[in-house]
Order: sequence, then C-alpha cells, then structure tokens
Amino acid sequence: SQMRESRIKRTKTVCTYCGVGCSFDVWTKGRKILKVEPQMEAPANQVSTCVKGKFGWDFVNSDERLTSPLIRKGDQFVPVSWDEALDYTARRLAEIKAKHGPDAIGCISSSKCTNEENYLMQKFARAVIGTNNIDNCSRYCQTPATEGLRRTFGLGGDTGSIGDLANTDLVIVVGANPAESHPVLSTRIRRAHKTRGQKLIVADLRKNDLSSRADIFLHPRPGTDLIWLSAVTKYIIDQGWHDQKFIAQKVNGFDEFVAWLGTYTLDYAEQETGLSKERLVQTAEMIHNAGSVCICWAMGVTQQMSGSETSTAICNLLLATGNVGRPNTGAYPLRGHNNVQGAGDMGCAPTYLPGYEFVADDAARAKYEAAWGVKLSTKPGLDNHHMVEKIHEGELKAMYVMGEEMAIVDSNANHVQAAFEKLEFFVVQDVFFSKTAQFADVILPASPSFEKEGTFTNTERRIQRLYRVFEPMGESKPDWEIVTALADRLGADWNYTHPSEILDEAMGLTELMKGVRYERLQGYHSLQWPVHEDGTDTSHLYLDGFPFPDNRANFYIPTWYPPVLEPNEEYDLHLNNGRMLEHFHEGNLTYRVQGIREKVPTTYLEISEELARERSISTGALVRLTSPYGTVKLRVVVTDRVTGHELYLPMNTPKDHEAVNYLTSSYHDEITHTPAYKDISVRMEVLKDK
Ligand code: SF4
Repeated sequence: SQMRESRIKRTKTVCTYCGVGCSFDVWTKGRKILKVEPQMEAPANQVSTCVKGKFGWDFVNSDERLTSPLIRKGDQFVPVSWDEALDYTARRLAEIKAKHGPDAIGCISSSKCTNEENYLMQKFARAVIGTNNIDNCSRYCQTPATEGLRRTFGLGGDTGSIGDLANTDLVIVVGANPAESHPVLSTRIRRAHKTRGQKLIVADLRKNDLSSRADIFLHPRPGTDLIWLSAVTKYIIDQGWHDQKFIAQKVNGFDEFVAWLGTYTLDYAEQETGLSKERLVQTAEMIHNAGSVCICWAMGVTQQMSGSETSTAICNLLLATGNVGRPNTGAYPLRGHNNVQGAGDMGCAPTYLPGYEFVADDAARAKYEAAWGVKLSTKPGLDNHHMVEKIHEGELKAMYVMGEEMAIVDSNANHVQAAFEKLEFFVVQDVFFSKTAQFADVILPASPSFEKEGTFTNTERRIQRLYRVFEPMGESKPDWEIVTALADRLGADWNYTHPSEILDEAMGLTELMKGVRYERLQGYHSLQWPVHEDGTDTSHLYLDGFPFPDNRANFYIPTWYPPVLEPNEEYDLHLNNGRMLEHFHEGNLTYRVQGIREKVPTTYLEISEELARERSISTGALVRLTSPYGTVKLRVVVTDRVTGHELYLPMNTPKDHEAVNYLTSSYHDEITHTPAYKDISVRMEVLKDK
C-alpha cells in the first residue's frame, strides 16, 4: 500500500463550500494535495473555481481533526473505541426514549453531508427513534425562499440552471452578494454583462463587486424589499406591461392580486423604502424592456421578519411579467452551502419526507412505512428553532447533531448555548472539535467530503457524484457509516455497505427523483431533478405547466411584517451581516487552511466613512458592539461599501468573541421560523483606537 500511496492520483470531487456546486479533479500524492484542476465538462463551473475551491482544502489534513470518538467524563473528553462510543450512545438514546418518549429526542442533519447521509439521518429520526424532530440548516437561510416558490410555482427549487443567468437579458440580484458568496456564478453574470450587454439590477444595503457594475443599484431601507418589489409590480401592471396571455393561460388569482397591490403605490414605496420614484420607474422599465428576466436572491431577503413574504413577492413579479416556465427566465434563490438543496430534498425537515412528500399525507406515509417496515409518527416534528425552545421548556432531552455548528450559527447564540447546557444527552458528530462539540456528551469523529463517496445537489437541483480522494484520517468515518452503525445498534438492521445502496433506495422511493441511480452519475455526468424513471432529467422547471391539480401557478398574497429591531436611542446602528469571499460560514474549515488564514486572519466590522468621522475612529480600532442579546469585540475597517449608520459584519471568524450571532435575536419569519438575522441594531463603543 505504500507503493500505492506514493503514486500520483487524480480524483473527481465536488466542492464542499457554496451552493454553486463546482466540480473538479484533485491531484494528490499520498495525503498531499498537489492541485485542483477544473474540467470543461464540469456542468456548473467548467474551468472556473473561486479561491475556496482552488486553495481551501488543507483542513482535510489538519492535525486538529477529530480522529477518535470521545466521551465526556466530568470536565474531560476521553478517547474511547468506536464500540464503546456507539454502545454508550445507543444505550443513552434508548433510555431517554423509554423514559420520555421518542419526541424527547431531536436530530439535526447537515448541508455539508451527502444526500445519502441526509436521507439516513431523517430515516434515523423517523424509523429508528420514531420522531419527526428532524431539521437542517436550510431553516437558517433558504427555507423562506422555498416557501415563496412553493406557494406560487409549486416546487422549492431554482426554476432554471446557472447557464440561464448568463443567457438572460436582465439579472436582478436582491439581498445577495454573489461576488463573495457564490463567486463562480457571479463571474458568469459579470462576463455576460460585459460581453453580451446583459442588464443588471442589484438591490442591497451594501455596495459589492456586482453592484458597482450594475445598471441600477437600489439601496432600500433594511428589510423593506417586499414594498419596492410590489410597487414595481403594480407599476408594471398599471402600465399594461404585464404578460396578459401568460397570466390568462397559466396563473390563478390575478384579480385578487391586483386588488391587494392597490396600496403599493410609488409614493408609498418611496416613503417606506427611501428609494426614489424615478429609480423605481427605471427599474420597472428595465424589466419591461427585457425579453427575459432572472431574479436571484439570498439571505438579505430571507433572514427577515418578512422572509417568506418577500420571496413570494419576487415570484409574483416573475409571474406578472411571464418570466417563469421558459428558458433564461425564473427564480434563483442562491443556496449557501454545497448541499443545502440536498438536505431539503432528502426530507430533513419536520413536516416532509424525501422528495417533498408531506408526513401528513397518508399515502406518502404508507409508502415509507412499507419500505422501511415501521409505523411512522404522524405527530408534527420540531424544527431547529423549536428544538431550542423545547429544551428550555424541559421537553426535549437529547439531541444528535451531525455536522452543524449550531452553537454559533443559530441566531441568539447565548440562548442556544444555554439550551445545550440543559440537555440530558448530547451527541455531536463532526470533523473538528467545534464550539457545539464543547457542549456534547459524546463526540463522533466524521470524515470530510474528500474522504467520502456519495452525491451533492447544488443550487440548480443538479445531483453530482464525488469520489474518495483520501482514506478517512485516523479512526474517523464517513457520516453514513456512523449513522448506520448507530441505527443497527438500536435494532434497525440497515447494514448498508456503500452509498450507492442508500442513494438508490432514497431516490427510488420519491416521485421527484425516481430515476436517479448511482450508476447514472458516473464521472462528471449529473442529473437535475425532476428525474424520470428512464433517467431523463430537467434543466428547466414548468415548461409544461405547474405542479398543481389544474396545472396553473398562483399569485399569492403576501403579508407584510415590518422589521422589529430598527435603530433606536439605545441601539443606534443597524447591523447587516453576511459572508466574505475568502472564508466560509463559521470558518471551521477555511481558518484551518494556512494560505487563506494568512491572507485573512479573522473577520472585521465594516463602518462607513461618515460614521468614522462622526466618532473619530479609523481602520484598526477595537470596538465593542452590544445588542439586547449579547456583545462582541472586534476590529474596524472604514470603507465606502457601507453608508451612514449601517454596519456590516461577516459571520466568518475563528474567534468566539467576534461571532455575530451573539448579537442577533430570536425573532423569526412567521411561516418558516427562519431567524431574522438581518434585523438587528447595536450600539458601538470604542475600546482602543488603532
Ligand atoms: Fe466552491 Fe462555490 Fe467557489 Fe465553486 S464558487 S469553488 S462551489 S465555493
């Protein structure tokens, strides 16, 4: 095997960072990564990658990897064998289930894990524990987008493909920063703007690389996107610019929608959003003059009190202008994590099974009961937000968290961590000793994507295969092996030996992805759902109508929930938050990549030039931010990207005391319970000038 180890090897994998889903070959020798080489046949990225995809992999060989199971003994974590860790975990979970019932246990799946692993985690919750208490981190980001899409179009996925964004006449980006969060997708938009004369409208609080190139840049008041989107829609309809034929043939509810739009005049929008009437008219004209329009959005829209509602308003605008159901048009909520789409597709949610079939649907449940040989609970499960509340209330006693840094990624981190302290039993499965792991009773060492086989699904519903680059480090194991071993110890008799068996079972049970088979995903070959039994897939949704009984889409009347934590006397600055290019998410992976860490060692607070003058502070000053929920301390960067009393703080930091979610609240979107991360105000004190 030493001979084999020293050979140069080339392996196809899929990026484990953002939802663009770049795929590429990795060249290795032993455990050394020689280079990352994208291939023309890579469907989402062709020959491009961003800095994370190209250089972000050294963490795989970090000496901080968890390489053995750990059990808490007093204040210490003691290395134990897999047998001991799994026996102990199975025994404690069985005890809690016997004493308090299956609904006293909650499971969290991971958008960093494969489709197969996500399928198994929800099967574990439902079939082994017997609860619908299963969720994943898409509730922290994109569930409101899914809700908006499902209400109007029927399915919770991007309506077209990434290629459409390069081929459309007009791209509108709302509350998203693709240049840093989805870099390769942003490159494709930028190129089309430059070479094809494609138009670009960007709406954001902060100037970013795309907004500086935009034909129209809109800077609305925080959290008011629903208002200007609806006013633009009303103006288009008032001018008679809506697609009357499309609406008559394919959409229900037009008259009610027009009646509701009545209050969304340009005057009202100007007053509420701060955008001038002229800007809004220009926006409407640009949409009218475009033969095809795509709208991208992300967390600036979804992480608000009105997240689902604004997503709905976006879908309504697309319906009114006939920009859905044909190529180069449509809705593109930009998925954050590489497999956040897959985690949802695989049923890691309290209300639905794989393929978005509802737990409450008797026929769907009966299908899974027959396949899994168990009786399924009909009791609605808890989502991740509810799980935290139910721990505080003493009803949820145990949690099993796979690959999620909940302790600092969930909003109102102090509140979440106080809940974890109260758990009777807590299992954390991860690649590193995360902040969440500090609260665990058992820590199970998992393998990252380079040490796994399986599939990921990107933002355009594209299922892609990853091959194993390295053997698992130490005693770590791929998550699917760990969940299988634990299920078997709890009497499940799963005995899966390869991800292909899991994928074929999972997909075969769904309607939406029926034709997905492991053997149909060789090399760079990918499939976009829906996938029919014969293996044909779907690059564009709704070409033949919408998946409702009458084949028609729906205008849906949204409800406007205004922001709740706007600046006031005590907390006078609005705090926007998001990502930065170099690092990903909480940073557990990218801060363990030396090259990236040396370039950007930690996060920073962006403040405007006006605020810097007003408070006499300069770049490098140390400040403390305080919200009603907690404090953080960090360094300031003065920049023209933000204006006035609006701050911006990237969430990506290796330092606990800088993590933005000590400041954010437990307020959330009414329908999906997605935290309103973007709805927060703070006060700032200077601790030390530079
Ligand atoms: Fe990875 Fe996203 Fe960068 Fe592509 S754009 S290399 S998927 S982080």
